[in-house]
Amino acid sequence: MEDVWIMDSGCSRHMIGHRKWFSSLNPVSTKEYITFGDNGQGKVMGVGSVLLSAKLSLREVAFVKNLGFNLVSISQLLDEGFEVHFKKGACCVLDAEETLVFRVDLTSVSGPARCLVAGPSADIWKRHRRLGHLSFDLLVRLSSMGLIRGLPKLKAEKDLVCHPCGHGKMVAASHTPMSQVMISYPGELLHMDTVGPARVASVNGMWYVLVVVDDFSWFSLVIFMEFKDEAFDLVLRLRNESHKAMRAIRSDNGGEFKNSQFKNFYRDLGLEH
Ligand SMILES: [Zn+2]
Repeated sequence: MEDVWIMDSGCSRHMIGHRKWFSSLNPVSTKEYITFGDNGQGKVMGVGSVLLSAKLSLREVAFVKNLGFNLVSISQLLDEGFEVHFKKGACCVLDAEETLVFRVDLTSVSGPARCLVAGPSADIWKRHRRLGHLSFDLLVRLSSMGLIRGLPKLKAEKDLVCHPCGHGKMVAASHTPMSQVMISYPGELLHMDTVGPARVASVNGMWYVLVVVDDFSWFSLVIFMEFKDEAFDLVLRLRNESHKAMRAIRSDNGGEFKNSQFKNFYRDLGLEH
């Protein structure tokens, strides 16, 4: 590949991966990196001149470490006053006097020079961002039905989470400020919730988590459970371990804290749920 030359309309400057092409090469003093399309990076080792044909000498060519091919930047050619013409079977570079200085034969595929055209990307993230954060399901449906011209077939991937989308959907509710603490001792009011089932069981075979936060001290307990209904026994234990009376439990009204076992517990102890 080191002998392949690519006329590139996308790259910002000429760059080459092999020292042998340079007629002159100066090392660069500052650290400079080139970012490639796949987000990889190549270090610029030097800048020099390259004789592309008898009439065309490329100036300011970057010598990039580990670059597998040679890129001729069309935009840099234009900046230097050249003209680049594409026509049937050939790509021609003309100088300011319109003299042909370099010609790429596009009919021979195996020739030393080629032109590449950027193709549509099937990266679903890129499509998601370009279409104003369109939902992934809709994107896959649109592409499978062929409703957008030029949109390649996109594959549905699992568990795609876009953070900007999530932030955009967040609602910030205002809370009225509390001027006094209503709770007077640890264990008086407990906040609790269960989490799970987890996608994977823990080493000990646990699927659920019970989280308990004491309102007074903010002391938190995280207890792992095999079944969701173990929550009751755990709360009962907390109740027996506390020195002062538990007065209230606050939950998100989930079923695990509203079953008959819990209802009897609240009633017998006079707890507020
Ligand atoms: Zn998004």
